[in-house]
Amino acid sequence: MPDMTTVAWDLSDLYSGIDDPRIEETLDKSLARAKQFAEMYRGKINSDDLTAETLFASLKEYENLAEEMSKPANYAALVFSADTSKPEHGALLQHVQERQTEIALVLMFYDLELMAAKPEIIDRLVREEILAPYRHFIHAARLFRENRLSEPEERILEEKANTGGRAFERLFEEMVSAIEFKIVIDGEEQTLTEPEILALLRDPSREVRKSAAESLTKGLADNSRLITFVFNTLVYDKSIDDRLRRYQYPEEARNKSNELDAQTVETVIKTCVENYPLVARYYETKRDILGYDKLTHYDRYAPLFEAKRPYTFDEAREVVLASFGRFSEQMRDVADEFFKNNWIDAEPRKGKRGGAFCSYVTTDLHPYILQTYLNRQDDIMTMGHELGHGIHAYLSRPQGYLNYSSALPVAELASTFGEMLVFESIVEKADLEDKLALYAEKIESNFATIFRQAAMYRFEQELHRARREQGELTADDISDIWQRNIQAMFLDSVEMGEGHQYWWMYVNHFIASPFYVYAYSFGELLVMALYSMYRQEGKSFVPKYLELLKAGGSCSPEDLLKRVGIDIKNPEFWQGGMKVMDQLIEEFEGLYKEWKAAKG
Ligand SMILES: [Zn+2]
Repeated sequence: MPDMTTVAWDLSDLYSGIDDPRIEETLDKSLARAKQFAEMYRGKINSDDLTAETLFASLKEYENLAEEMSKPANYAALVFSADTSKPEHGALLQHVQERQTEIALVLMFYDLELMAAKPEIIDRLVREEILAPYRHFIHAARLFRENRLSEPEERILEEKANTGGRAFERLFEEMVSAIEFKIVIDGEEQTLTEPEILALLRDPSREVRKSAAESLTKGLADNSRLITFVFNTLVYDKSIDDRLRRYQYPEEARNKSNELDAQTVETVIKTCVENYPLVARYYETKRDILGYDKLTHYDRYAPLFEAKRPYTFDEAREVVLASFGRFSEQMRDVADEFFKNNWIDAEPRKGKRGGAFCSYVTTDLHPYILQTYLNRQDDIMTMGHELGHGIHAYLSRPQGYLNYSSALPVAELASTFGEMLVFESIVEKADLEDKLALYAEKIESNFATIFRQAAMYRFEQELHRARREQGELTADDISDIWQRNIQAMFLDSVEMGEGHQYWWMYVNHFIASPFYVYAYSFGELLVMALYSMYRQEGKSFVPKYLELLKAGGSCSPEDLLKRVGIDIKNPEFWQGGMKVMDQLIEEFEGLYKEWKAAKG
């Protein structure tokens, strides 16, 4: 095994260490500034006398203050992620969070006044040129104005939610994480948690996968009465909320926060549904590779080939920089900054938090990236993913702190695009078996993000409507909606067999954030569609893409894409993304034929 990397963060651009007195100074100063701000602007924003100049000056100060006060929090979060095992790191994080809350409470009036201000005044003011940079921020801050109830009503709903909706969410989480999934492996009975049992669905042994599936089903079915009750309660609770807040249909609140209209969302999901045959086609080949007569639900994630070639950190850096450089010199140069300046923390370390992320930090500094680099091929993909985020954050800094982070539906744009670039590069260099492994992983992960989330969205749509029209649903009612909608994605290539009908019961998104799932389909298919444009247009696509990144969160997804000539209401644009998927599958099929022929 090649040596592990020792690349670690240099956080000195923020603070020199956890005992740097400037941390406390920043917090003290921010609190004083917040108090001054409140004194100056309270009662002046939601006022008939508000002028564009006053609003601008307040926004500028608010932005600056929010950015400064975020530095201790950013620093504490990064230090904690780098080593969660040190109690002093946890203590710093806690301390900073408490002090931040203190400041946030002083500033809270501002958001409220901005939302409450009269439309006739705000609409007139935002047309003035001076407010142009903050137009989208003001719009977003006032988005839910019409759905807000009166102050006392809001207060009652908020307080009662702790013993209502939120209590049921917590009950669900605590209960599902407490389920003991029993399974016999190698003649020995074991008790596993939900994530452990889900991981076994990827085991190379069909027997193990089957046992894991049965164990998951049994654990859920045993709790079906309670879980069904929680689902019914929360879906009903949402319908009450929607009625009180004057939403016309179940998805409306989610669409509004994503700044997408119903028609666009439906176009994306319809494109996914119409392309379900792509899923079936891939699984036909997968069945052939696995050598089974029929595939069932626990074969979906069966591993096909395992990518073996290890990559050292230095090799990975070269591959990523070269693949970015082939697309755009500027992208390569920005990515290089992360390596040169230690904005990336990659070494495996005890106490370091798992997973990977990019922290935007602030616009006067720069983003930081964390991953644990273990020399595997998917670690390079992760590097490409997080550097994609990093470049996005870096390039959008001129938009200012309130405008630079992206809205949810486009938040994974640069990361997924970066992954695609890296994928194409490593595929070129891989041998046949590694290539097959890379393709299978890429295709299955795209399926999970694009088609599976679309199928889950269809399930949610039907669930919420059924509850509104028919009243309380039984476990069998919900299971039927689930089984039909997930089966649809596979046509008849994979049979969602006995037991799978209960698997809606552990999906936290359905409980905690209704209709959240479609943002995944939207984001991933968007990148595939952009990639298809890149393939068609070549170099002339590059400046358009960089412009998308530079715009950050300064406008809605629709306006953002309009800037580069894309109409997200046009089904053809989305179908372009499917072309890329189609091509990936075709290439995979070709490689498999080649591999079979070589094997004789
Ligand atoms: Zn990401």
